[in-house]
Amino acid sequence: MPYSYDPQNVFAKILRGEIPNKTVLETEHSLAFHDIGPQAPLHILVIPKGPYVNYDHFASEASDAEIVDYTRAINEVCRLAGARPGDGHGGYRMIANSGEAGVQEVPHLHIHILGGRVLGRMVSKA
Ligand code: AMP
Repeated sequence: MPYSYDPQNVFAKILRGEIPNKTVLETEHSLAFHDIGPQAPLHILVIPKGPYVNYDHFASEASDAEIVDYTRAINEVCRLAGARPGDGHGGYRMIANSGEAGVQEVPHLHIHILGGRVLGRMVSKA
């Protein structure tokens, strides 16, 4: 599916340095920063630097180098946060909301890493 990327979305502005962020990790192809409205004691967003709307777009069109970098960056953020299973925070949840049913608000791929408490069941029935 062809995706149209909106360069005015908030994460594009963060990547261009137009609005500030609390960076956790920056790599060649990825950026991780604290979510501005944390839903758990640990809530970090990891985004690719490339203009990808969602996971489908990224997995279909990103280069192998971008995909490897992003995958490893996500794990490194979990390690830095002490959130890997068995570490201090005792695990985490990764969420990538995509499209309408996924209730994605920002149209630039981002993975939420949530933890720091027991998060309850995966989704509400509402
Ligand atoms: P989603 O609903 O999956 O698209 O999530 C978008 C997330 O981006 C929400 O959790 C917001 O709190 C977060 N967010 C929006 N603006 C910013 C910002 N300027 N800095 C950090 N996080 C943000």
